[in-house]
Amino acid sequence: MPQTSGELASLTAEDRKTQSIPSPALFPNGVGHTTMLLYIHVPFCRRKCRYCAFHSLEMGAATAVRDYVETLLRELALWGDRMGGTPVTSIFFGGGTPSLLPARTIGTILDRVAKAFSVQPGAEISMEANPESLTRPSELRTLLKVGVNRLSMGVQCLDDAMLHTLGRPHRAREALDAFRAVRAAGFQNVGMDLIWGLPGQTLRQWMQQLKEVVRLRPDHLSCYGLTLEPGTPLEDDCATGRLELPPERAQAAMFMDGAELLETEGYIHYEISNFARMGFQCRHNLGYWEGEDYLGLGPSAASTLGGLRWNNPEDHATWIRQVDEGRVGTEAERLTPQTRVLELIMLRLRTARGLRVKAYRELTGRDFLRDHKRLVHLLHREGLLRIRDGYLRLTRSGMLVSNSILERLFEDTEALMALPVDTPAAPLPDAGKVAVPNAGQTTEDVAGQAAIPTVERDGSTGTDAAAAPPSPPPAPPAGRSHG
Ligand code: SF4
Repeated sequence: MPQTSGELASLTAEDRKTQSIPSPALFPNGVGHTTMLLYIHVPFCRRKCRYCAFHSLEMGAATAVRDYVETLLRELALWGDRMGGTPVTSIFFGGGTPSLLPARTIGTILDRVAKAFSVQPGAEISMEANPESLTRPSELRTLLKVGVNRLSMGVQCLDDAMLHTLGRPHRAREALDAFRAVRAAGFQNVGMDLIWGLPGQTLRQWMQQLKEVVRLRPDHLSCYGLTLEPGTPLEDDCATGRLELPPERAQAAMFMDGAELLETEGYIHYEISNFARMGFQCRHNLGYWEGEDYLGLGPSAASTLGGLRWNNPEDHATWIRQVDEGRVGTEAERLTPQTRVLELIMLRLRTARGLRVKAYRELTGRDFLRDHKRLVHLLHREGLLRIRDGYLRLTRSGMLVSNSILERLFEDTEALMALPVDTPAAPLPDAGKVAVPNAGQTTEDVAGQAAIPTVERDGSTGTDAAAAPPSPPPAPPAGRSHG
Protein backbone atom coordinates (compact mmCIF):
# COMPACT_ATOMS: atom_id res chain seq x y z
CA MET A 1 0.00 0.00 0.00
CA PRO A 2 1.13 3.50 -0.63
CA GLN A 3 3.65 4.20 1.97
CA THR A 4 4.80 7.32 0.21
CA SER A 5 8.50 7.15 -0.27
CA GLY A 6 8.94 10.89 -0.26
CA GLU A 7 7.27 11.44 3.09
CA LEU A 8 10.31 12.14 5.15
CA ALA A 9 11.87 14.17 2.42
CA SER A 10 9.18 16.72 3.00
CA LEU A 11 9.91 17.20 6.68
CA THR A 12 11.08 20.59 7.69
CA ALA A 13 14.62 21.13 8.88
CA GLU A 14 13.63 21.08 12.52
CA ASP A 15 12.03 17.69 12.01
CA ARG A 16 15.31 16.26 10.91
CA LYS A 17 16.68 15.58 14.33
CA THR A 18 17.44 11.91 14.08
CA GLN A 19 17.86 9.66 17.02
CA SER A 20 18.02 5.99 17.71
CA ILE A 21 14.95 4.51 19.25
CA PRO A 22 15.81 3.61 22.80
CA SER A 23 13.39 0.78 23.33
CA PRO A 24 13.13 1.05 27.12
CA ALA A 25 12.38 4.76 26.84
CA LEU A 26 9.83 4.31 24.13
CA PHE A 27 8.19 1.31 25.70
CA PRO A 28 9.02 1.56 29.39
CA ASN A 29 7.08 -1.49 30.43
CA GLY A 30 8.84 -3.70 27.94
CA VAL A 31 5.61 -4.24 26.07
CA GLY A 32 3.72 -2.14 23.61
CA HIS A 33 2.15 0.85 25.28
CA THR A 34 -0.77 1.11 22.92
CA THR A 35 -2.46 -0.56 20.01
CA MET A 36 -0.91 -0.25 16.59
CA LEU A 37 -1.45 -1.02 12.93
CA LEU A 38 1.03 -3.29 11.19
CA TYR A 39 2.06 -2.67 7.58
CA ILE A 40 4.11 -5.23 5.65
CA HIS A 41 5.64 -4.08 2.39
CA VAL A 42 6.05 -6.74 -0.28
CA PRO A 43 8.20 -5.12 -2.96
CA PHE A 44 7.74 -7.48 -5.90
CA CYS A 45 5.65 -6.94 -9.01
CA ARG A 46 5.32 -8.90 -12.19
CA ARG A 47 6.54 -5.87 -14.08
CA LYS A 48 6.69 -2.14 -13.51
CA CYS A 49 3.55 -0.24 -14.45
CA ARG A 50 4.15 2.85 -16.55
CA TYR A 51 2.72 5.27 -13.99
CA CYS A 52 4.21 3.73 -10.88
CA ALA A 53 6.46 5.57 -8.45
CA PHE A 54 6.11 3.10 -5.60
CA HIS A 55 8.94 1.03 -4.34
CA SER A 56 8.67 -2.19 -6.32
CA LEU A 57 10.96 -4.55 -8.18
CA GLU A 58 10.22 -6.91 -10.99
CA MET A 59 9.84 -10.39 -9.60
CA GLY A 60 13.17 -11.94 -10.40
CA ALA A 61 15.17 -14.83 -9.04
CA ALA A 62 13.62 -17.05 -6.40
CA THR A 63 16.62 -16.29 -4.19
CA ALA A 64 15.61 -12.61 -4.03
CA VAL A 65 12.18 -13.58 -2.77
CA ARG A 66 13.65 -16.06 -0.30
CA ASP A 67 16.09 -13.43 1.01
CA TYR A 68 13.23 -10.98 1.36
CA VAL A 69 11.02 -13.38 3.32
CA GLU A 70 13.84 -14.52 5.60
CA THR A 71 14.82 -10.92 6.33
CA LEU A 72 11.23 -9.91 6.94
CA LEU A 73 10.84 -12.69 9.50
CA ARG A 74 14.03 -11.58 11.23
CA GLU A 75 12.84 -7.99 11.27
CA LEU A 76 9.57 -9.15 12.76
CA ALA A 77 11.40 -11.08 15.45
CA LEU A 78 13.53 -8.04 16.32
CA TRP A 79 10.42 -5.93 16.81
CA GLY A 80 8.84 -8.77 18.76
CA ASP A 81 11.82 -8.68 21.15
CA ARG A 82 11.53 -4.94 21.45
CA MET A 83 7.80 -4.51 21.88
CA GLY A 84 6.33 -7.99 21.96
CA GLY A 85 2.74 -8.24 23.05
CA THR A 86 1.70 -4.92 21.61
CA PRO A 87 -1.93 -5.23 20.52
CA VAL A 88 -2.23 -5.16 16.72
CA THR A 89 -5.64 -4.16 15.43
CA SER A 90 -4.97 -4.49 11.74
CA ILE A 91 -2.41 -5.98 9.38
CA PHE A 92 -1.97 -4.76 5.82
CA PHE A 93 0.13 -6.47 3.14
CA GLY A 94 0.89 -3.76 0.60
CA GLY A 95 3.34 -3.34 -2.18
CA GLY A 96 4.31 -4.07 -4.78
CA THR A 97 2.06 -7.03 -5.37
CA PRO A 98 1.75 -9.10 -2.20
CA SER A 99 -0.45 -11.64 -3.98
CA LEU A 100 2.65 -12.79 -5.87
CA LEU A 101 3.84 -14.47 -2.67
CA PRO A 102 2.56 -18.01 -2.16
CA ALA A 103 -0.41 -18.15 0.22
CA ARG A 104 1.47 -20.42 2.59
CA THR A 105 4.28 -17.85 2.83
CA ILE A 106 1.68 -15.27 3.83
CA GLY A 107 0.54 -17.84 6.41
CA THR A 108 4.08 -18.20 7.78
CA ILE A 109 4.41 -14.43 8.09
CA LEU A 110 1.07 -14.19 9.89
CA ASP A 111 2.07 -16.98 12.27
CA ARG A 112 5.20 -15.04 13.20
CA VAL A 113 3.20 -11.85 13.62
CA ALA A 114 0.94 -13.69 16.03
CA LYS A 115 3.99 -14.87 17.98
CA ALA A 116 5.56 -11.42 18.12
CA PHE A 117 2.48 -9.33 18.89
CA SER A 118 -0.98 -9.67 20.25
CA VAL A 119 -3.20 -9.74 17.18
CA GLN A 120 -6.61 -8.63 18.40
CA PRO A 121 -9.66 -10.83 17.83
CA GLY A 122 -11.44 -9.71 14.68
CA ALA A 123 -8.38 -7.85 13.40
CA GLU A 124 -8.66 -6.76 9.79
CA ILE A 125 -6.03 -8.56 7.71
CA SER A 126 -5.86 -7.00 4.26
CA MET A 127 -3.85 -7.88 1.23
CA GLU A 128 -3.38 -6.00 -2.00
CA ALA A 129 -3.75 -8.27 -4.98
CA ASN A 130 -3.54 -7.96 -8.72
CA PRO A 131 -6.02 -9.79 -10.94
CA GLU A 132 -3.42 -11.81 -12.82
CA SER A 133 -2.22 -13.35 -9.55
CA LEU A 134 -5.67 -14.36 -8.33
CA THR A 135 -6.39 -17.21 -10.65
CA ARG A 136 -5.87 -20.33 -8.54
CA PRO A 137 -8.85 -21.26 -6.34
CA SER A 138 -6.69 -23.40 -4.04
CA GLU A 139 -4.39 -20.43 -3.36
CA LEU A 140 -7.36 -18.22 -2.64
CA ARG A 141 -8.79 -20.75 -0.20
CA THR A 142 -5.41 -21.04 1.52
CA LEU A 143 -5.20 -17.27 1.84
CA LEU A 144 -8.54 -17.28 3.63
CA LYS A 145 -7.48 -20.18 5.79
CA VAL A 146 -4.30 -18.49 6.99
CA GLY A 147 -6.28 -15.45 8.07
CA VAL A 148 -6.44 -12.93 5.23
CA ASN A 149 -9.97 -11.56 5.49
CA ARG A 150 -9.91 -8.60 3.12
CA LEU A 151 -8.63 -8.32 -0.46
CA SER A 152 -8.02 -5.10 -2.31
CA MET A 153 -7.79 -5.73 -6.05
CA GLY A 154 -5.84 -3.46 -8.37
CA VAL A 155 -8.29 -3.34 -11.26
CA GLN A 156 -7.61 0.28 -12.30
CA CYS A 157 -9.89 0.26 -15.35
CA LEU A 158 -11.94 -2.02 -17.56
CA ASP A 159 -10.59 -0.96 -20.92
CA ASP A 160 -7.86 -3.12 -22.41
CA ALA A 161 -6.31 -0.31 -24.43
CA MET A 162 -6.01 1.87 -21.35
CA LEU A 163 -4.68 -0.99 -19.27
CA HIS A 164 -2.02 -1.39 -21.95
CA THR A 165 -1.23 2.33 -21.79
CA LEU A 166 -0.83 2.02 -18.04
CA GLY A 167 1.46 -0.97 -18.49
CA ARG A 168 -0.76 -3.22 -16.41
CA PRO A 169 -0.12 -6.92 -16.88
CA HIS A 170 -3.82 -7.88 -16.84
CA ARG A 171 -6.83 -7.43 -19.11
CA ALA A 172 -10.31 -6.30 -18.14
CA ARG A 173 -11.76 -9.79 -18.51
CA GLU A 174 -9.15 -11.19 -16.12
CA ALA A 175 -10.08 -8.59 -13.51
CA LEU A 176 -13.75 -9.52 -13.68
CA ASP A 177 -12.96 -13.23 -13.59
CA ALA A 178 -10.60 -12.74 -10.65
CA PHE A 179 -13.29 -10.91 -8.70
CA ARG A 180 -15.73 -13.76 -9.23
CA ALA A 181 -13.05 -16.31 -8.27
CA VAL A 182 -12.32 -14.42 -5.06
CA ARG A 183 -15.99 -14.36 -4.14
CA ALA A 184 -16.36 -18.04 -5.02
CA ALA A 185 -13.45 -18.84 -2.72
CA GLY A 186 -15.37 -17.24 0.14
CA PHE A 187 -13.92 -13.75 0.58
CA GLN A 188 -16.60 -11.53 2.06
CA ASN A 189 -14.70 -8.27 2.07
CA VAL A 190 -13.33 -7.43 -1.36
CA GLY A 191 -12.41 -4.02 -2.68
CA MET A 192 -11.30 -2.70 -6.03
CA ASP A 193 -8.92 0.12 -6.91
CA LEU A 194 -9.83 2.20 -9.94
CA ILE A 195 -8.19 5.22 -11.57
CA TRP A 196 -10.01 8.05 -13.31
CA GLY A 197 -8.62 10.81 -15.49
CA LEU A 198 -6.63 8.42 -17.68
CA PRO A 199 -5.16 9.62 -20.99
CA GLY A 200 -7.90 9.67 -23.60
CA GLN A 201 -10.62 8.74 -21.10
CA THR A 202 -14.00 10.40 -21.44
CA LEU A 203 -16.55 11.04 -18.71
CA ARG A 204 -18.90 8.65 -20.43
CA GLN A 205 -16.31 5.85 -20.45
CA TRP A 206 -15.53 6.37 -16.78
CA MET A 207 -19.17 6.28 -15.76
CA GLN A 208 -19.80 3.17 -17.83
CA GLN A 209 -16.90 1.42 -16.14
CA LEU A 210 -18.14 2.43 -12.73
CA LYS A 211 -21.58 1.04 -13.52
CA GLU A 212 -20.05 -2.22 -14.68
CA VAL A 213 -17.98 -2.49 -11.53
CA VAL A 214 -20.91 -1.67 -9.27
CA ARG A 215 -22.92 -4.50 -10.81
CA LEU A 216 -20.42 -6.88 -9.20
CA ARG A 217 -21.15 -5.34 -5.77
CA PRO A 218 -17.62 -5.02 -4.42
CA ASP A 219 -17.59 -4.07 -0.75
CA HIS A 220 -15.16 -1.23 -1.16
CA LEU A 221 -14.01 1.03 -3.98
CA SER A 222 -10.96 3.27 -4.08
CA CYS A 223 -11.21 5.73 -6.95
CA TYR A 224 -8.05 7.76 -7.46
CA GLY A 225 -7.38 10.51 -9.92
CA LEU A 226 -4.35 9.69 -12.01
CA THR A 227 -1.22 11.32 -10.66
CA LEU A 228 1.57 11.78 -13.17
CA GLU A 229 4.61 10.92 -11.12
CA PRO A 230 7.83 12.61 -12.21
CA GLY A 231 10.19 10.34 -14.08
CA THR A 232 7.63 7.71 -15.02
CA PRO A 233 7.12 6.71 -18.67
CA LEU A 234 3.49 7.86 -18.53
CA GLU A 235 4.52 11.30 -17.35
CA ASP A 236 7.01 11.44 -20.21
CA ASP A 237 4.31 10.46 -22.72
CA CYS A 238 2.06 13.27 -21.48
CA ALA A 239 4.87 15.81 -21.29
CA THR A 240 5.88 15.15 -24.89
CA GLY A 241 2.31 15.15 -26.20
CA ARG A 242 2.15 11.47 -27.13
CA LEU A 243 -0.73 11.12 -24.68
CA GLU A 244 -3.19 13.66 -23.45
CA LEU A 245 -5.07 13.80 -20.18
CA PRO A 246 -8.78 14.62 -20.21
CA PRO A 247 -9.61 18.32 -19.82
CA GLU A 248 -9.87 19.54 -16.23
CA ARG A 249 -13.59 20.05 -16.59
CA ALA A 250 -14.03 16.39 -17.54
CA GLN A 251 -11.79 15.27 -14.68
CA ALA A 252 -13.81 17.28 -12.20
CA ALA A 253 -17.01 15.73 -13.53
CA MET A 254 -15.48 12.25 -13.20
CA PHE A 255 -14.94 12.87 -9.50
CA MET A 256 -18.27 14.55 -8.85
CA ASP A 257 -20.51 12.35 -10.99
CA GLY A 258 -18.66 9.20 -9.98
CA ALA A 259 -19.12 9.94 -6.29
CA GLU A 260 -22.77 10.70 -6.85
CA LEU A 261 -23.33 7.45 -8.68
CA LEU A 262 -21.61 5.44 -5.98
CA GLU A 263 -23.64 7.07 -3.24
CA THR A 264 -26.81 6.35 -5.17
CA GLU A 265 -25.68 2.74 -5.31
CA GLY A 266 -25.33 2.60 -1.54
CA TYR A 267 -21.63 3.30 -1.09
CA ILE A 268 -20.57 5.66 1.68
CA HIS A 269 -18.11 8.30 0.52
CA TYR A 270 -15.99 8.14 3.66
CA GLU A 271 -12.73 9.62 2.39
CA ILE A 272 -11.86 11.71 -0.65
CA SER A 273 -10.97 8.66 -2.76
CA ASN A 274 -12.72 5.90 -0.86
CA PHE A 275 -16.21 4.45 -0.86
CA ALA A 276 -17.57 1.51 1.06
CA ARG A 277 -20.72 -0.38 1.71
CA MET A 278 -21.94 0.08 5.28
CA GLY A 279 -19.49 -1.58 7.65
CA PHE A 280 -16.80 -2.16 5.01
CA GLN A 281 -14.65 0.95 5.46
CA CYS A 282 -10.99 -0.02 5.47
CA ARG A 283 -10.13 -0.01 9.15
CA HIS A 284 -6.41 0.06 8.47
CA ASN A 285 -6.54 3.19 6.35
CA LEU A 286 -9.02 4.79 8.72
CA GLY A 287 -6.41 4.20 11.42
CA TYR A 288 -3.84 6.17 9.40
CA TRP A 289 -6.26 8.99 8.85
CA GLU A 290 -7.16 9.01 12.53
CA GLY A 291 -3.49 9.28 13.48
CA GLU A 292 -3.00 5.84 15.03
CA ASP A 293 0.48 4.44 15.52
CA TYR A 294 1.77 2.08 12.87
CA LEU A 295 4.79 -0.16 12.46
CA GLY A 296 6.01 -0.80 8.91
CA LEU A 297 8.11 -3.82 7.96
CA GLY A 298 9.97 -4.50 4.73
CA PRO A 299 12.06 -2.27 2.46
CA SER A 300 10.86 1.35 2.25
CA ALA A 301 8.14 0.87 4.88
CA ALA A 302 7.45 3.85 7.11
CA SER A 303 6.58 3.73 10.81
CA THR A 304 5.21 6.16 13.35
CA LEU A 305 5.24 5.09 16.97
CA GLY A 306 5.12 7.13 20.12
CA GLY A 307 5.75 10.42 18.33
CA LEU A 308 8.74 9.05 16.38
CA ARG A 309 8.84 8.38 12.67
CA TRP A 310 11.30 6.52 10.51
CA ASN A 311 11.57 4.90 7.11
CA ASN A 312 13.19 1.58 6.32
CA PRO A 313 15.81 1.79 3.55
CA GLU A 314 14.43 1.29 0.06
CA ASP A 315 17.54 -0.48 -1.09
CA HIS A 316 17.16 -4.19 -0.40
CA ALA A 317 20.81 -4.85 0.35
CA THR A 318 20.86 -1.99 2.87
CA TRP A 319 17.63 -3.13 4.46
CA ILE A 320 18.92 -6.72 4.71
CA ARG A 321 22.24 -5.58 6.19
CA GLN A 322 20.57 -3.39 8.79
CA VAL A 323 18.23 -6.17 9.86
CA ASP A 324 21.16 -8.61 10.02
CA GLU A 325 22.94 -6.17 12.31
CA GLY A 326 19.83 -5.81 14.45
CA ARG A 327 19.48 -2.15 13.51
CA VAL A 328 15.78 -1.54 13.08
CA GLY A 329 14.10 1.78 13.71
CA THR A 330 17.37 3.64 13.98
CA GLU A 331 17.42 7.15 12.53
CA ALA A 332 13.99 7.94 13.89
CA GLU A 333 12.81 11.50 13.81
CA ARG A 334 10.74 13.04 16.55
CA LEU A 335 7.71 14.70 15.07
CA THR A 336 7.47 18.37 15.88
CA PRO A 337 4.23 19.94 17.07
CA GLN A 338 4.09 21.73 13.74
CA THR A 339 4.22 18.50 11.76
CA ARG A 340 1.58 16.95 13.98
CA VAL A 341 -0.78 19.82 13.50
CA LEU A 342 -0.33 19.84 9.73
CA GLU A 343 -0.93 16.11 9.63
CA LEU A 344 -3.98 16.40 11.81
CA ILE A 345 -5.47 18.96 9.44
CA MET A 346 -4.46 17.14 6.29
CA LEU A 347 -5.57 13.67 7.31
CA ARG A 348 -8.80 14.53 9.06
CA LEU A 349 -10.00 16.83 6.31
CA ARG A 350 -9.60 14.00 3.82
CA THR A 351 -12.28 12.08 5.66
CA ALA A 352 -16.03 12.60 5.51
CA ARG A 353 -16.08 12.79 9.30
CA GLY A 354 -13.78 15.76 9.17
CA LEU A 355 -11.57 17.59 11.63
CA ARG A 356 -12.70 17.75 15.23
CA VAL A 357 -12.11 21.30 16.36
CA LYS A 358 -11.39 20.00 19.85
CA ALA A 359 -8.57 17.82 18.54
CA TYR A 360 -6.87 20.91 17.12
CA ARG A 361 -7.26 22.64 20.47
CA GLU A 362 -5.88 19.62 22.33
CA LEU A 363 -2.81 19.60 20.11
CA THR A 364 -2.13 23.31 19.93
CA GLY A 365 -3.99 24.97 22.77
CA ARG A 366 -5.50 27.21 20.10
CA ASP A 367 -8.86 27.74 18.52
CA PHE A 368 -9.08 26.55 14.92
CA LEU A 369 -12.00 28.74 14.01
CA ARG A 370 -10.28 31.81 15.35
CA ASP A 371 -6.92 30.87 13.82
CA HIS A 372 -8.45 30.34 10.39
CA LYS A 373 -11.45 32.62 10.63
CA ARG A 374 -11.17 34.33 7.28
CA LEU A 375 -10.45 31.17 5.33
CA VAL A 376 -13.18 29.17 7.07
CA HIS A 377 -15.64 31.94 6.33
CA LEU A 378 -14.64 32.01 2.68
CA LEU A 379 -14.82 28.25 2.27
CA HIS A 380 -18.16 28.11 4.01
CA ARG A 381 -19.57 30.85 1.82
CA GLU A 382 -18.41 29.04 -1.31
CA GLY A 383 -19.98 25.77 -0.18
CA LEU A 384 -16.62 24.03 0.16
CA LEU A 385 -16.74 23.42 3.90
CA ARG A 386 -19.36 22.72 6.53
CA ILE A 387 -19.22 22.83 10.32
CA ARG A 388 -21.43 20.58 12.40
CA ASP A 389 -21.28 19.06 15.87
CA GLY A 390 -17.78 20.33 16.45
CA TYR A 391 -16.42 18.93 13.19
CA LEU A 392 -15.26 20.74 10.07
CA ARG A 393 -15.66 18.74 6.93
CA LEU A 394 -15.11 19.41 3.27
CA THR A 395 -18.14 19.16 1.04
CA ARG A 396 -17.73 17.16 -2.14
CA SER A 397 -16.92 20.35 -4.00
CA GLY A 398 -14.39 21.08 -1.28
CA MET A 399 -12.86 17.64 -1.71
CA LEU A 400 -12.45 18.40 -5.40
CA VAL A 401 -10.07 21.23 -4.55
CA SER A 402 -8.80 19.77 -1.29
CA ASN A 403 -5.14 20.25 -2.15
CA SER A 404 -5.62 23.95 -2.75
CA ILE A 405 -7.49 24.26 0.54
CA LEU A 406 -4.88 22.29 2.42
CA GLU A 407 -2.05 24.30 0.95
CA ARG A 408 -3.66 27.46 2.16
CA LEU A 409 -4.30 25.98 5.61
CA PHE A 410 -0.68 24.84 5.81
CA GLU A 411 0.61 28.28 4.97
CA ASP A 412 -1.57 29.81 7.65
CA THR A 413 -0.72 27.15 10.20
CA GLU A 414 3.00 27.32 9.56
CA ALA A 415 2.90 31.06 10.02
CA LEU A 416 0.95 30.64 13.24
CA MET A 417 3.28 28.02 14.58
CA ALA A 418 6.67 29.35 13.62
CA LEU A 419 8.45 27.26 16.15
CA PRO A 420 12.09 27.68 17.04
CA VAL A 421 14.29 25.01 15.49
CA ASP A 422 15.15 23.26 18.74
CA THR A 423 11.67 23.07 20.23
CA PRO A 424 11.24 19.52 21.50
CA ALA A 425 8.07 17.72 20.57
CA ALA A 426 5.96 16.46 23.41
CA PRO A 427 4.95 12.81 23.27
CA LEU A 428 1.48 12.25 21.95
CA PRO A 429 -0.37 11.85 25.27
CA ASP A 430 0.86 15.29 26.36
CA ALA A 431 0.24 16.90 23.04
CA GLY A 432 -2.39 19.19 24.50
CA LYS A 433 0.28 20.88 26.54
CA VAL A 434 2.47 21.82 23.60
CA ALA A 435 3.36 25.47 23.88
CA VAL A 436 2.73 27.36 20.68
CA PRO A 437 4.61 30.56 20.06
CA ASN A 438 2.75 33.50 18.59
CA ALA A 439 -0.37 32.39 20.38
CA GLY A 440 -1.83 35.84 20.10
CA GLN A 441 -1.83 35.81 16.33
CA THR A 442 -5.02 35.45 14.42
CA THR A 443 -5.59 34.28 10.91
CA GLU A 444 -6.14 37.84 9.86
CA ASP A 445 -2.60 38.62 10.93
CA VAL A 446 -1.01 36.05 8.72
CA ALA A 447 -3.36 34.89 6.01
CA GLY A 448 -2.51 35.76 2.46
CA GLN A 449 -5.05 37.30 0.16
CA ALA A 450 -5.04 34.65 -2.56
CA ALA A 451 -8.50 33.31 -3.11
CA ILE A 452 -9.26 29.64 -2.78
CA PRO A 453 -10.52 28.49 -6.13
CA THR A 454 -14.23 28.02 -6.13
CA VAL A 455 -15.71 25.05 -7.84
CA GLU A 456 -18.66 25.12 -10.12
CA ARG A 457 -20.75 22.06 -10.70
CA ASP A 458 -19.38 21.92 -14.23
CA GLY A 459 -15.85 21.64 -12.90
CA SER A 460 -14.56 24.88 -14.30
CA THR A 461 -11.60 25.02 -11.91
CA GLY A 462 -8.56 22.85 -11.40
CA THR A 463 -9.31 19.50 -9.84
CA ASP A 464 -6.98 18.03 -7.29
CA ALA A 465 -9.21 15.57 -5.55
CA ALA A 466 -7.76 12.17 -4.92
CA ALA A 467 -4.34 13.23 -6.05
CA ALA A 468 -1.34 13.32 -3.77
CA PRO A 469 -1.81 15.82 -0.98
CA PRO A 470 0.31 18.96 -0.94
CA SER A 471 3.82 18.50 0.24
CA PRO A 472 4.36 20.35 3.51
CA PRO A 473 3.50 17.64 6.03
CA PRO A 474 4.62 14.06 5.60
CA ALA A 475 1.71 11.84 4.78
CA PRO A 476 0.94 8.53 6.41
CA PRO A 477 0.87 5.64 4.03
CA ALA A 478 -2.50 5.88 2.39
CA GLY A 479 -3.92 7.85 -0.41
CA ARG A 480 -2.73 6.90 -3.83
CA SER A 481 -3.52 4.20 -6.25
CA HIS A 482 -1.24 1.51 -7.43
CA GLY A 483 -1.47 -2.20 -7.63
S1 SF4 B 1 1.42 0.21 -9.76
FE1 SF4 B 1 1.29 -1.45 -8.25
S2 SF4 B 1 1.40 -3.33 -9.52
FE2 SF4 B 1 2.14 -1.65 -10.82
S3 SF4 B 1 4.37 -1.67 -10.52
FE3 SF4 B 1 3.52 -0.20 -9.06
S4 SF4 B 1 3.26 -1.36 -7.17
FE4 SF4 B 1 3.49 -2.83 -8.84
